[in-house]
Order: sequence, then structure tokens, then C-alpha cells
Amino acid sequence: MILRWLTPACYVTSVVGVDPQRLVRDGIRGVVLDLDNTVVAWDAPAPTEAVRQWVDRLRRAGLKACIVSNNFRDRPRAIAEALGIPVVLAAVKPIPWAFRRAMTIMGIPARQTALIGDQLFTDILGGNLVGMYTILVDPLSSQEFPTTKLVRRLERLVRARVIDRIQARQKA
Ligand SMILES: [Mg+2]
Repeated sequence: MILRWLTPACYVTSVVGVDPQRLVRDGIRGVVLDLDNTVVAWDAPAPTEAVRQWVDRLRRAGLKACIVSNNFRDRPRAIAEALGIPVVLAAVKPIPWAFRRAMTIMGIPARQTALIGDQLFTDILGGNLVGMYTILVDPLSSQEFPTTKLVRRLERLVRARVIDRIQARQKA
């Protein structure tokens, strides 16, 4: 069933709400991060102080990180540099190559890698396809790339169902 591939392992409202210590306890050693609307608001030039501190917490917990973005301009590179983590651009998510590249850069296999992203059809689907521990977050802003109306409507529809599933599971 397609819904299974679109369902993350876990749902947290925002990236800074993900507890690095808990990831470590769950056997995670590396984190693949979506950029737009996950690490920074869409088109934001720099990460917020809260995100910088969260990335420091990741590092102190001994976790590696890599940004994977479908974006390909200078802005993502500058943000990754500001955070001190590598970046794979022009990713064409959910196609797996960029996720595999990120895991190679970190030197960590999929079963020990978490993915954090705000989109089901790119981040979560792609992460599940390569066998990562997928974490869905709410988008930081409602602005996004001009994707087709149909895809956006479909995403909204599926998202509500997927979050219901996750919250039922997390309560159980
Ligand atoms: Mg995103």
C-alpha cells in the first residue's frame, strides 16, 4: 500500500523539537536534513539562532549531519557553511541517489541514519525507499516552490491521514 511508503517513523512539529540524545539512544549516528521549510523558512538567507543551537546539540551528541536539497543555488551552500555541515544539491528527491551520496559523505549506513523533512512525496517517500528512520516536521512557512496545484492538494490530503496514523501509533 502506497500510504505505508509515505508514512514517517515519527512526527515532530519542528526540527528543533527533535531530541539528539534520543536519536542516539535509538541507534542513530547520522541525520539527513531537508533544507527549505525544514532547516530554514523557504527563501530565508540564514539559519535562525535556535537552529544553530540545535545543530550544535547534534554535534555534541556525536551525530553527523548532511543537508540534502532539491535546490541548487548559492543560498543552500551558504546556509550549510554557516551550520558547518556538508550539503548535496540538485537532489531530485525522492530519487535515492542524493540520500545515498549524503550517507557516503557521513560514512553511515541507512539503518543508522535519520531523515528529517517537511514533505511526504519527496523527503519521507525517498527516506523510506532507502531505509532511513524518517521524521516528518511541519513546514516552517506556507511559502514553497510553485509545484502544481494537484500535487499540493494531494499532499495536504495524504498528510492529514499520515499524521493521524502516526499520532495513534505514538499514543499506543
Ligand atoms: Mg522542504
